[in-house]
Amino acid sequence: MSSSVNMEDIISLAKRRGFIYPGSDVYGGLRGTWDYGPLGVALKRNIMNLWWQHFVDGRDDMYGVDAAILMNQKVWQASGHVDTFVDPLCEDTVNHRRFRTDHILKDNGVDAEGMTMEQMDAAIAEHGIKSPDGNPLSASRTFNMMFTTHVGPTSDDASISYLRPETAQGIFTNFKNVVDSFYPDLPFGIAQQGKAFRNEISPRDFIFRSREFEQMEIEYFVHPEKWEEAFEELLASTHEFLVRLGLKPEHIHELDVPEADRAHYSKKTIDIEYDFPIGKEELMGIAYRTDFDLGNIQRVSSKSMEYTVKGTNEKFVPHVIEPSFGVERALMAVLSNAYREDEVNGEKRIYLALPEHLAPVRYAVSPLLKNKPELVEKAREVYRALKQKYGNVSWDDNGNIGKRYRRQDEIGTPHVVVIDFETIEGGGTVTVRERDTTEQRRVSIAELLG
Ligand code: ATP
Repeated sequence: MSSSVNMEDIISLAKRRGFIYPGSDVYGGLRGTWDYGPLGVALKRNIMNLWWQHFVDGRDDMYGVDAAILMNQKVWQASGHVDTFVDPLCEDTVNHRRFRTDHILKDNGVDAEGMTMEQMDAAIAEHGIKSPDGNPLSASRTFNMMFTTHVGPTSDDASISYLRPETAQGIFTNFKNVVDSFYPDLPFGIAQQGKAFRNEISPRDFIFRSREFEQMEIEYFVHPEKWEEAFEELLASTHEFLVRLGLKPEHIHELDVPEADRAHYSKKTIDIEYDFPIGKEELMGIAYRTDFDLGNIQRVSSKSMEYTVKGTNEKFVPHVIEPSFGVERALMAVLSNAYREDEVNGEKRIYLALPEHLAPVRYAVSPLLKNKPELVEKAREVYRALKQKYGNVSWDDNGNIGKRYRRQDEIGTPHVVVIDFETIEGGGTVTVRERDTTEQRRVSIAELLG
C-alpha cells in the first residue's frame, strides 16, 4: 500500500516554503543532490537530534563518534566495497542512456530481488523489456558506486581514496580506540551520524535515492552467542523511535530478508519498510553482521580486534548488530506522514501536521496589526520571552492574519500567538491559534510562558 499523498505536492511545498531545493539549481542542477533550506535544515536537525537522544544519550551502553569521511583506501579494500559495492548497469543500445537493471525490471513489474545479474538479463529477454525510450538494452555489467578521489598532490594508485558510501566503517575502525579509552562491558554500541556518498546509477524519487545523503548508524558489539536478544532489543527500540517520529504503525512493515537477498555475511536482516507516496520501500535496516567487519580489519591490519571479558581470560572478536538509518528517508516519511489538505471557510488549506518536537518553528508570534506600535511592542515582548524558552520561535507580521495562518500551516507551525487589543487593554491574554484544528483559544501570557 502506498500513502494517498502525492509526491509532487510534497516536492512543491518543500521548495516553495524553503525546506529542500534541488542542488546547484541556478546552474541547472546536479542530479541526486539536494540543498536544505532554513526550514529543512531545522527539521533534519530535529530528526537527527531525536535519534541521538533516543539511541545514544538516552542509554548507558552507547558511545558516539564522528570519524573522517576520507579514509585510507585499505578500509574499503578490507570491507569488500572496492570489489563488491556494485549495482547492475545496462545501457540503451541506441542513445546510450544507462539504467540500473533491477530498476528497469521493477518498473516493468518484475521483482529482481535475489536475482543474479545473468538472471536479470534473462528476465529482460524473456519479457521483451526495452529501455524507457523503447530501444533494446545491452547485457548488464557491474558498476561500482563509490566516488573515487585522490588525497594529496599526486594522482596515482597509492593516493586513491573514496567518499565513504556508509558511515559504518568509520565506527569499525575506531572499535579498538573506544575499547582502549573506555573499556566498556559487552554488549555496547558505537553510533555515528554523517554524510555518505553513492554514485547511484539512477537517483530518483526526490530525496529517497540521492547521491549524497546522511546516515545514522550503530554498530552494537555483542558476545557471539548473545546476538539474538540484542537484535530483538534494537528492533523494538527502532519501532519506539519511529513512533517518536510520529509515524503510524500501520504504515510500518518488517521484511525478514530471505537468505538469497541478504549480504553473504549477514545471518539475519530485517528491513523496515514504510508506505511512502512512491510505494512501500525501505526506510532503514537492521542486520546481524557476525564478526565479518572486525574480522576483516584484524586480517588486513594484523591488529587484534579481540575483546577480553573483564576479570576472565575469555577472548573473542565481538559479533555485531547494525541498525542503519537514512536521514533523508526518515525525513521523507515524516513529511509525507504530516502532509494534509482540508477545507477552511470554503477554501483549500494545506498544512503539515508535524509533531511539535520536530516542527522547525514551534511558535509564531504576530501582532494583529503591524502599524499599531502598542501591539508590536507587546508582541515583541512575548516573542522574546517565548524565544528564550524554546529557541525555534519566529516573528511573523507579513500580510494579513489569514495569510500568516496559511503560511505557518504550510510549514507545520503548531501554534500562532496573536497579540490584539484585548491583550493591551489589561486582559493580559493572547489568542493562540492551533494548526490542526484551526481553533483559537484565549490564553494568559503567564500560562503561555509558564
Ligand atoms: P537500497 O536497497 O534502497 O538501495 P540499501 O539496502 O543499499 O538501500 P543500505 O546500504 O542498507 O541501503 O543503507 C542503509 C540506509 O541508508 C538505507 O536503509 C537508507 O535509509 C539509506 N540509504 C541508502 N542509500 C541511500 C540513497 N542513495 N539515498 C538516500 N538514502 C539512502
